Formats: sequence, structure tokens, C-alpha cells
Amino acid sequence: MSAIVIDNCYIATVNSIGEEHESGYIVIEDGEISAVGAGVAPEVGGVRRVDASGCIATPGFVNSHHHLYQWLTRGRAVDSTLFEWLVELYPVWAGIDEEVEYAAARAGLATLAGSGCTTVVDHHYVFPRGVGDLLDAGVRAAREVGLRFNPTRGSMDLGESEGGLPPDSVVEKLDHILAASEEAVDRYHDPSPGSMLRVALAPCSPFSVTDELMKESAELAQKKGVRLHTHLAETPDEDVFCREKFGCRPVEYLEGLGWIGPDVWLAHCVHINPDEAKRFGEIGAGVAHCPSSNGRLGAGIAPVRELLDAGAAVGLGVDGGASNERGELGPELRQALLAARYRGGPTALTVRESLAMATIHGARCLGREDEIGSIEVGKRADIALWNLEEVGFAGIVDPVAALVLGPDRPVQMLIVDGEVIVEEKQLLTADLHEVAESLKQASAKVLARSEGAKP
Ligand code: ZN
Repeated sequence: MSAIVIDNCYIATVNSIGEEHESGYIVIEDGEISAVGAGVAPEVGGVRRVDASGCIATPGFVNSHHHLYQWLTRGRAVDSTLFEWLVELYPVWAGIDEEVEYAAARAGLATLAGSGCTTVVDHHYVFPRGVGDLLDAGVRAAREVGLRFNPTRGSMDLGESEGGLPPDSVVEKLDHILAASEEAVDRYHDPSPGSMLRVALAPCSPFSVTDELMKESAELAQKKGVRLHTHLAETPDEDVFCREKFGCRPVEYLEGLGWIGPDVWLAHCVHINPDEAKRFGEIGAGVAHCPSSNGRLGAGIAPVRELLDAGAAVGLGVDGGASNERGELGPELRQALLAARYRGGPTALTVRESLAMATIHGARCLGREDEIGSIEVGKRADIALWNLEEVGFAGIVDPVAALVLGPDRPVQMLIVDGEVIVEEKQLLTADLHEVAESLKQASAKVLARSEGAKP
């Protein structure tokens, strides 16, 4: 039996009553949290002891929305609207293949691990033909880095010639998408408790997919017992598109397709009204809030207070590297807090709500709140330790405030499913110099392909 005892640290459990211990312990046995509490840890045999003095322990963060392949195309269209940014990037994304996808996924996942992430959603929706197995590249990278992974088989089938935004070269045929989606679930989805790998289905957005694809994906997801994800109500342009094409608002469009339900989580939801926020809460649909990406693209500020008051799960997402070059989840806690308060004033979000969004709300988005997202007995041991003794934090009286409002920092120790993957701020599962070099080469390759493809 492998066991780890972490003691002498501040613990923010993020359990249902928000319990915190000023000086406490966590016992991990066989990948599961077997004890947590205040004071001195009980005696456990065969154990590794971690003296975490000066640290705060939190649940590992859940990145509820991301596009790993976008790590290949960062720093482009930096002063553009979402639609301008997409139109510039779609043809470049047509140049990805399995090899460059693997390089991007490793870089993205390694960075996320360094910022305290233990679970990562990868919304992949660009599948050029004949370029190898893109999903497999992500799964391999996640296994190597050691993170809990939730890739999606995403899709686009509404090309420019049919009134969609993406060029026809990057969309797929409906039948092919459905067959590939079923295959992805059969091959990768592990529904067992504590699973390290779950798959969801994720048509990209109202302006890049057909109604048939949305409906059929929902039916397939139900048949296979997997969740659904998509982008929704990110910018006013999408609102105009939906009104012109469907004669309704983006949320109404999704509701009409049977897509607002307890097995769905939606990225962004910036431009939703109070009634729609309420319905999300009543129905149990989750939202992946991506404040830095929304700022980068000038999309607006999501109504997080209204969603939380309605009882909706509001996880945090980094979003893809092309709209958030930073690629870390840690800074999103502060960004979410500031964005909410810009919009709704000083009471719009508390520091502890921000931490809960990054952890238990993310777990709820994935339907995994019984397994991950808080430090409680019986849950999987996904734990981040943050060193608060450095000069940037020293003397801040509230450790949770230090974490959310203080300077950005790499995680001191990261444990995923009971395995230590970051220790003394060093990622144990990949060589970052080599990861950076291969990302550089892969990005150059994609750039050269896009230059070569220009008329
Ligand atoms: Zn996105």
C-alpha cells in the first residue's frame, strides 16, 4: 500500500461547508484521501511524510475548457474580435497533425500542471483528414504528464459555403463525425469511479455546426452515457448570427435542440440574460467561465454572480492558448474575481467562491463532484500545495486571499490520484526544456504549412 501524509499546513477543503484548518493533515492511501483534519496526523504505516509547513493545501484545480492544439498558434490576431481571430486562424489550424498535436498537448499539460491543475478538459474540434490520430496524441501526452484528462471529440460541419464561419477545408461530414465520435467513446472513455480518462462530445459552436449535428450528437451522448460540451454566447457577433440564421437567441437555439440539460456544460455564456442564467441553475447545466480569454478577445464579462445565485456550476477555464497565451489556471482565480467585481461591484464574488469555481464547480461541470474537487475522505487524492512563505505572500493574514489575490506562483507540490507529479516546483514527468524545444519546432512547422498553403 502506498501512503502519503501531508501535515503542518493550512487546508482549504472546499467541502460543502467550506471547512478550513489552520494547521492540519491529509492522509492519502492508494490514491484516495483516507483522513483529513486539524492538528496532528494519525499514525499510518508504510508512509511518506510531507512536512508542508508554510503551505496551503487546496484541491487540485479543474480546467473546465481548453484547446491544447492552440498552443501551436499563439500570439496571432492579437487585436481582433473573436470572428476576425477565427477567420485568421481556421486555415492555419488546417495544418495540424498528430506529431505537432502531441508537442502542443505536452506543453499545454505541463504548464497546467505547474499552475495547480489536476484535471484538464481538451475541447478538440479541428480534424483535418489523413493527419493521424489527433485524439490519441492528447491522450498519450496526458498519460505521460500524469493528469486526469477529459478530451472531447469535437466537430464542425457547417462550412462557409453553407453559411457557417469556418472555411469548408476544416469541416467534416456529419456521418463521419458521428462514427468517429462513437469510436472515440468506445476507445477511450473510462466510466469507472476514479477514472483518469473520460470523453465528452463537443460540436464546436452555433456558427460552425448544423442543427442535425447538434441533435445527433446529443442522442449519441445519451446512448453512450457521456457528457456534452460546446461554446455558447461568447460574443455579440454570435448573437447577431443566431438571430439572423435561427431567429432566436443562442440559448434559445440550444434549448430548442434539447441541449440545455444536467449532462451539459457550456463554455463562456457571456451574453446570456438573467432568465437564462436562472434556467441554467434550475436545469443543472454547467458553465466554463474563461475570464482571461474573454478579456483577450474583448468578448465581455459573464454574469457569474447571477449564475451562482441560480445554483449553476460555474467552473473556470483557461481556454485555448491562442486566446490566452498564458495557459495557466492559477491566474484565472484572480482574473475571475476582478472581472466579476468590474461588472457587479465589490460583492459580486468572494475569494472563496473563486477557489470553489476552480475546484468543486469544475468537478460539477464534469459530473464528478463525488470523486474530485474537494479535500474530503473518500475522494481521489488530487491535491495542490502552495508555498506561502515567499516574499510575495509573507504576512498576508488570510491564506486563501494570498492564493487568489497574491502574486502568481508555480505550485510547490502537485498530487494526482495519489501520485506526486510536481515536487519542489519541478515537474517530475517531463523535461520542460525538451517540451519547449519541440513546441517551438512544431509551431514553426504549422506556420510554414500555412504560409505554403497561401494562394
Ligand atoms: Zn474555447
